[in-house]
Amino acid sequence: MLDSDVLIIGSGLAGQSLALRLADQRRVVLVTKKAITDSASGWAQGGIAAVLDNNDSVGSHVQDTHIAGADLCDPVTTQFVVEHGPSAINWLIGQGVPFTVDADSGIGYHLTREGGHSHRRVIHVDDATGAAVQATLSEKVMAHPNITVLENHLAVDLIIGEKLGLDASGCLGAYVLDVAQDRVITVSARHTVLATGGAGKVYLYTTNPDTATGDGLAIAWRAGCSVANMEFIQFHPTCLYHPDAKSFLISEAVRGEGGILRLPDGTRFMPEHDPRAELAPRDVVARAIDFEMKRHGLDCVYLDISHKTPEFLKGHFPNIYARCLELGIDITKEPIPVVPAAHFSCGGVLTDLSARTDVANLYAIGEVAHTGLHGANRLASNSLLECVVFSEAATQAILSAPAGSTPCPLPDWDESRITDADEEVVISHNWDELRRFMWDYVGIVRTTKRLERAQHRIRLLKREIDEYYAHFRVSNDLLELRNLVVTADLIVRCALKRKESRGLHFSRDYPNLAPSIKNTVLRPPKRKA
Ligand SMILES: Cc1cc2nc3c(=O)[nH]c(=O)nc-3n(C[C@H](O)[C@H](O)[C@H](O)COP(=O)(O)OP(=O)(O)OC[C@H]3O[C@@H](n4cnc5c(N)ncnc54)[C@H](O)[C@@H]3O)c2cc1C
Repeated sequence: MLDSDVLIIGSGLAGQSLALRLADQRRVVLVTKKAITDSASGWAQGGIAAVLDNNDSVGSHVQDTHIAGADLCDPVTTQFVVEHGPSAINWLIGQGVPFTVDADSGIGYHLTREGGHSHRRVIHVDDATGAAVQATLSEKVMAHPNITVLENHLAVDLIIGEKLGLDASGCLGAYVLDVAQDRVITVSARHTVLATGGAGKVYLYTTNPDTATGDGLAIAWRAGCSVANMEFIQFHPTCLYHPDAKSFLISEAVRGEGGILRLPDGTRFMPEHDPRAELAPRDVVARAIDFEMKRHGLDCVYLDISHKTPEFLKGHFPNIYARCLELGIDITKEPIPVVPAAHFSCGGVLTDLSARTDVANLYAIGEVAHTGLHGANRLASNSLLECVVFSEAATQAILSAPAGSTPCPLPDWDESRITDADEEVVISHNWDELRRFMWDYVGIVRTTKRLERAQHRIRLLKREIDEYYAHFRVSNDLLELRNLVVTADLIVRCALKRKESRGLHFSRDYPNLAPSIKNTVLRPPKRKA
């Protein structure tokens, strides 16, 4: 058993910034599924939104967030996050993040403008912001004497005093699978923080890394936390469609520079869907592509920019040109096969302004949390900002709580009634089946009938996976599958509850806005006394 003051699960921007803020005053154990830098945070390209320019204002950033969120953003949270934006960026600068400089900008750094923002307010490190931030923070985290980093360690479940009939109540730590040693260890903690990121892997196509399997959501739900707004999944319209290209984004700038979306026979289809054609907002384009793929039974559509000169394409899109060429696609001569892909989860574990969940001593920060900032659709570059602002909020809550007494003895992980798995194929088959039907039935355009079909299949899968989990030794894939099916269930239940089309949730059966604006909140079943 390992003891800590604070257990942080996840090493993305949320988890690492929290660890660094706490470590001078608390003993931190940070567990992460793979290497410390493996996360969606490391893949972020664009940057971080904050009010940094004198001509910009908090009111303007707040308003842009509300417009993107289709009136569902929580006003208090939005104000809170935007107001704390500048100090969050200053903190990152203080850690040594090498943001791109611009001597003429008035603030010393270059700011870009992204879709939905009415000012230049996105600070970045060239076109690889996440990688630079992660590299800077992880070096510090690894070097800090008060932070124990456990890579290749996967949190299985939280230890909840009431559930196990222990002397103490609330969250007391977690069971964690040490993947290399193939054993489950117990980590006790006065405070536990879920910073496990998103759940893109629940869909067949996603821009997310392999780590995004909704673990924190499922873990929190099993522990007794409420979750909210899981129906709002943001899809990026154009992800490269190729068997060897895992999650490679074709930037929206390709459409901005004149790229045309076509069916396999060359027909242009966007003008039929929106007068802005290829320049319509990303959710409109994603919906149109989805519609055409379903209408014609296609695996992908094509994004054609081959009418531009090779010099222009190599100059403007060097990475896309090079990556496509590696895969045998010459974008100067032929169209690029693309599909929409699950990108960001707006909902999550319900938290307050201090990142607290419904369970005592348990917090959630970053993409796993639902703070109310994103409403029904995320404004570009607000998510990394949310990670840093809520790591600060959680720090204050944790440091102001009483230090806590010695932990009560926690039971070891019980493996007495299980054996080695006999049929691994059950896991791989169910992984594929789940991601495929979530894509087909719970994707960009939804109907009640399709959602009910998905729900039926989820019930069958859940039963099979729970039975498998109860009898066989846990493994990485089994744990992720168990979490994916819970995440899928939460998405479908939220989607069925929303009887309207708002932001990212579009239902053919309820194509209009409902008169009242409500969050979809799921409360976990009450525990039997
Ligand atoms: C391709 C791409 C580009 C993006 N670009 C931008 C952008 O420009 N600006 C912006 O604001 N947002 C962007 N986003 C969104 C943003 O990157 C994420 O919302 C954000 O990084 C989430 O940070 P996080 O710390 O919450 O989670 P992550 O960075 O995903 O980190 C989660 C961590 O939890 C670990 N983990 C998960 N489950 C477990 C478990 N059971 N046990 C132990 N560890 C676990 C993972 O291994 C990982 O270390 C982008 C996302 C993608 C995919």
